[in-house]
Amino acid sequence: MTTNNIVVLGAGVSGLTTAYLLSQDPANKITVLAKHMPGDYDIEYASPWAGANYMPVGKEGSAHQEWERATWPALKEITDKYPEAGIHFRGALIYNRTKDQESATGKWFSELVQPNPWYKDVVPDFKPIPSSKLAPGIDNAQEWTSVCINTAVYLPWLVGQCVKNGTVFKRAVCKHITDAANAHHTGQKADVVINCTGLSAKTLGGVLDEKMHPARGQIVVVRNDPGPMVSVSGTDDGEDEALYIMTRAAGGGTILGGSYQKHNWDALPDMNLANRIMKRCIKICPSLVKEGQGIEGLDIIRHGVGLRPLREGGTRIEKDQVDGVSVVHNYGHGGFGYQASFGCAYATIALVKEVLQNKSRARL
Ligand code: FAD
Repeated sequence: MTTNNIVVLGAGVSGLTTAYLLSQDPANKITVLAKHMPGDYDIEYASPWAGANYMPVGKEGSAHQEWERATWPALKEITDKYPEAGIHFRGALIYNRTKDQESATGKWFSELVQPNPWYKDVVPDFKPIPSSKLAPGIDNAQEWTSVCINTAVYLPWLVGQCVKNGTVFKRAVCKHITDAANAHHTGQKADVVINCTGLSAKTLGGVLDEKMHPARGQIVVVRNDPGPMVSVSGTDDGEDEALYIMTRAAGGGTILGGSYQKHNWDALPDMNLANRIMKRCIKICPSLVKEGQGIEGLDIIRHGVGLRPLREGGTRIEKDQVDGVSVVHNYGHGGFGYQASFGCAYATIALVKEVLQNKSRARL
């Protein structure tokens, strides 16, 4: 049997999902190489900070839409079959205020809040909420069943699945993408390196992608459990402040969000913003606390900040050749790395297969 030596650089949700799928083929000998691994909390590592839920934002007709469409069945299957993966089904309430259309959060959520979105045929139980039931200021709303992922359980679950299939995990920091090709666990040179370095693609030698920038997301994690998830198109507190609530599976707490602050690299929580987040969440969802309570009714686990790896022009899934090393990129997933994870991994793997086929043809 021909074997393929593959190095996946990066152990966020993009690298781990790609490795998980590739590892199902015994011909693939995979090393996952990363500076940060599940269990770490670091500003250079977006994946642990995510909610994370499935709230499609890809525009109709785009590759992004296809990645999100393709990801739902995979997340649903994992949720149905593997409760230990830390994903559960959860009701989703989506509220739109037309006045948010031009704001940073309004643009981000423009597809999500459409009254007749493409994803209505993908997710279960989609239905509009009658206008008679809407709070003042909300122009349209819908409900459906989504999932919420406990990232502290799900990322290690992905690692476990990969390890079970023979994948080797190694800690390392690469200065240049080609360093990864020499780090395969067999000692042989990798046939292909898959670049899943997220925001660090901006500074990684051989890539240096200037289109990468952060969209800073601040969150408060609480023990309170309000029921369904809520997302709103915007807030009155600033055009890059967001409003969402989601309770993670398996005791992961409830995430109160948030913000979408482009080009902001600040790793420390801003406590004024934290106050606004908590107040907004209680206003839109009073069941978060006991009747008559304000933010003192929230039982805080932690404040957090993560940087969404946003890329001008969209996610990069592409073949590349750097100093004689075959590379396939899979980075730049902004605020949708989980909900597009399987779709992006399928697209990446299709390119990896092309690279491997060309190499085996060249050997003949
Ligand atoms: P990362 O998770 O950043 O992983 C990058 C990996 O590459 C790490 O292992 C790092 O150590 C490694 N690496 C980088 N450079 C090097 C190097 N030079 N050498 C070695 N290793 C290197 N998405 C959703 O789908 N749903 C949500 O609800 C959601 N909510 C979010 C909420 C917040 C607050 C934030 C911040 C993000 C949210 N996201 C959500 C977005 C999602 O978290 C990201 O899109 C996703 O985590 C990106 O994953 P990644 O694997 O591409 O990058």
